Amino acid sequence: MWIDAAATIDEVEKTFYIETFGCQMNAHDSEKVVGTLVHEGYAQVESPDQANYIFFNTCSIRDKAEQKVFNRLQHFKNSGKGKVVAVIGCVAQQEGEKIFERAPHVSLVAGSASYTKLPEMLVQLEKGNRRVTGLSLDTELTFDTPFTRRDNPHRGWITVIEGCDKSCAYCVVPFTRGPERSRTGASVIEEATRLAGLGYTEIQLLGQNVNSYRDPSPAGWDFATLLDQVGRVPGIRRVRFTTSHPRDFVKPIIDAIEGNANLCNHVHLPVQSGSSRVLEAMQRLYTREQYMERIQWMREAKRPIAMTSDIIVGFPGETERDFEETLDLLEEVKYDSIFSFKYSRRPNTAALELGDQITEEEKTRRLTIVQERQRAIQMRQNAELLGEEEELLVESWYESTGQWVGRTTRNRTLSFTSGMPDLLGKYVRVRVMRAGPNSLTGEIIH
Ligand code: SF4
Repeated sequence: MWIDAAATIDEVEKTFYIETFGCQMNAHDSEKVVGTLVHEGYAQVESPDQANYIFFNTCSIRDKAEQKVFNRLQHFKNSGKGKVVAVIGCVAQQEGEKIFERAPHVSLVAGSASYTKLPEMLVQLEKGNRRVTGLSLDTELTFDTPFTRRDNPHRGWITVIEGCDKSCAYCVVPFTRGPERSRTGASVIEEATRLAGLGYTEIQLLGQNVNSYRDPSPAGWDFATLLDQVGRVPGIRRVRFTTSHPRDFVKPIIDAIEGNANLCNHVHLPVQSGSSRVLEAMQRLYTREQYMERIQWMREAKRPIAMTSDIIVGFPGETERDFEETLDLLEEVKYDSIFSFKYSRRPNTAALELGDQITEEEKTRRLTIVQERQRAIQMRQNAELLGEEEELLVESWYESTGQWVGRTTRNRTLSFTSGMPDLLGKYVRVRVMRAGPNSLTGEIIH
């Protein structure tokens, strides 16, 4: 419950509920929306029944994610009577006013660049306007809000770059998030310092293409410099970043990780396909060989760096041989984990024009093979950790199993039991005792 102690739901008229779909950028945007609204006197509640305003912060990266949003909206067609239903985020930006046709009970549609204007839009609705939109993708910076209500008390997200200037043939992000805009290095350090002062020890730098970050101030920091500087903020013990584009992934990023113990031993570097032919059709701007060169830099690093990736199967024209190349690449890199997806047709994207679409059935078959192959790789990778000592930041406690769960610098989750009270947010050392494909279990070292 987020209502201030002095007030009850009945006393607060302006209550809102928010549901978030999609990636960490969206989850962090929701934290900004919540903070902005709370600052304006709105109170967040835990269920839609208690709310006057219902927000859906949406994701349109895949058709399935978008359908989920419309299914949820349908649910509120009747039960949302007397409430204001708002669609914000990527589906809002992509579909715009068409949402009003598809879901007439929606009153507000706003893209992610407009969240700071939400209070104004709500006032317009309160004045009797039936429908309000905020769809401008102007380059006004919306990174900062001193009011952000962070869900996690130990790990703070900081958006360092918004939007994307690439044009991957399958991706809708450049249309929903607009062009790249980086914030100044000084403002990132200021925010990291503020978070450290509040007791946060882990920072995760966010951006659709985080490593194409370029400080717009005269300091002109590149991403490697920013990373290193954030890792030097007193009180910050861990820095992560996501998501990186291989084309912009340069050696100095690895040098920064090697040179600064506070930068986590983990890089998420989405490859999407193991076939240079498919990568070209995807307009990814690198070949398999160039990607493998980056993997080699990580392998040669003095610290063991965990590598994770995204894979798309069934891109138009992907032959059995191309697919085999993706499977080979999985074996060659031996990722610590991957996110894998079937290609999904998205509006406005270049891939819509490509012939030779792969059937759903075939995409499902390929996805199953990729996931089985990766599962076997993870089983082997995790088994190698048996007996190793890891430092964890403890993130959660599960009453039902009596276990604490923490994350290692290599982004692995590890569960353990301990009679010690309240370990949340603490760093502990744990020895790995059991390994499965997706999880590790260990014993705390006293
Ligand atoms: S780099 Fe490509 S996949 Fe990533 S957000 Fe930009 S267009 Fe989309």
